[in-house]
Amino acid sequence: MRRSPAFTMFALTLAVLLGAVVIAGLGRGAEPVAGDGFGGGGRVVVRDASLVLTMDPKLGTGALGQLADADVLLDGNRIKAVGKDLDAGGAKVVDGRGKIVLPGFVDVHNHLWQSLIRGCAADDNVDGWLGRCVLPLYGAPVTGQDAYAGARLSTVDLVGTGVTTVTDWSHAFNTGFADGNLRALADSKMRFVFSYGASADPAVQEAVRTAKKRFIDPNPLANLEIGSHPSSGNFSNLDASEKLARELGVPLNVHLLESKNDAATGQMDALRKADALQPGLVANHVVHPTDAELDELAAHDVRVAHNPLSNMRLASGIAPVPDMLKRHMKVGLGLDGGTNDTSDMYNVMRAAVGLQRAKYVDPAAQPTVAEVLRMATLGGAEVLGLDREIGSLTPGKKADLQIVDPQQINFAPNVAWLNQLVFNTQPSNVQWVFVDGRALKRDGRVVGVDTAQVIRDAQAAADHLKQLLPE
Ligand SMILES: [Zn+2]
Repeated sequence: MRRSPAFTMFALTLAVLLGAVVIAGLGRGAEPVAGDGFGGGGRVVVRDASLVLTMDPKLGTGALGQLADADVLLDGNRIKAVGKDLDAGGAKVVDGRGKIVLPGFVDVHNHLWQSLIRGCAADDNVDGWLGRCVLPLYGAPVTGQDAYAGARLSTVDLVGTGVTTVTDWSHAFNTGFADGNLRALADSKMRFVFSYGASADPAVQEAVRTAKKRFIDPNPLANLEIGSHPSSGNFSNLDASEKLARELGVPLNVHLLESKNDAATGQMDALRKADALQPGLVANHVVHPTDAELDELAAHDVRVAHNPLSNMRLASGIAPVPDMLKRHMKVGLGLDGGTNDTSDMYNVMRAAVGLQRAKYVDPAAQPTVAEVLRMATLGGAEVLGLDREIGSLTPGKKADLQIVDPQQINFAPNVAWLNQLVFNTQPSNVQWVFVDGRALKRDGRVVGVDTAQVIRDAQAAADHLKQLLPE
């Protein structure tokens, strides 16, 4: 069939316009990631990094295993080698000169959906905040779309600040909500631990088993925990959750002694009765234990998620972190969702150091600068039982790391970089973030994310939640 010249011109114009739209679309959101050497699977070398904190004392000097002017070679999803003048033939090169390289942060406690309630009930303590911003959502029509939007925003924020592993204690208000939450985690390409808030309801238990098969088992970046809340009034749910955790061979994860009121609810007794005081149990907060309770937790190798910004915001108190460290307990750092209102682990490190110094009026109070850097990385991996795979730049471990640029107004000049790393770093200094060998942040930008769309979706979800919460 013949076409008229006018029709041909029309078709050509349309094709050019469509092409322009496609190219514009690529420029906004869908950046090419795979195939350029930084999308995972290949070899990448960070060349001549001015400072490398390996967190492995065998690899360098001091407790943090420091190296100067060193290379870090990634091969596929693992760290191949760390040292000077590495043979890195064929590897893509990131210029490390003037930069600091350290493991990605391990956030041991968060609630990703809670970015949707940032700023909520800012004048309340934990019980008031829960009552106004969280508990009314049980039984309410919150959706998978809501969960996805909140978790999506949070994960983009986390990657931007150098967090490579996140523990998401999900309230899992309904199965659709949990699924949306898990889909956002998978799409983030972060390493994650999903703490599925469970109960004694057989339908919920079955939903957990199904989620494990659908979302956790097929994804090498995914891990599962069972989330619960110990108290004498909630014992049947705790007991069933502990049994489910054992059935699935995963840890239990609980909020423990967060507020002064918690002790009176029989939390420790409930854990004892459910035989849940086991190595691997993750206890969030532990702000108000007695010395005897700390001894008991330490004796059972219970791990602690310390969330200083959340504890400050909710007027919960100051966790006895020095007493935990003296007992050689495993302690990591957490952001704790909406009560913290930030995803910035550098901010959490400053709070963890500053709170104890202020409490004891002692600049030598634990954690020290070196200790808090370890807590945010290898210490967090130990809390989650993942320290054989992540937390340090030990060759053979997974390639989860961040590259910090100190040559910026808020960080320069170079006086005492290790101290400045804790006291000066802002998320904008984090230039590169690798998870499993894949660059999720590159040259200061989180890769492949349409930020404006993420914010629009989060706003829609936050507006929806607002309708479901009391004034
Ligand atoms: Zn929490």
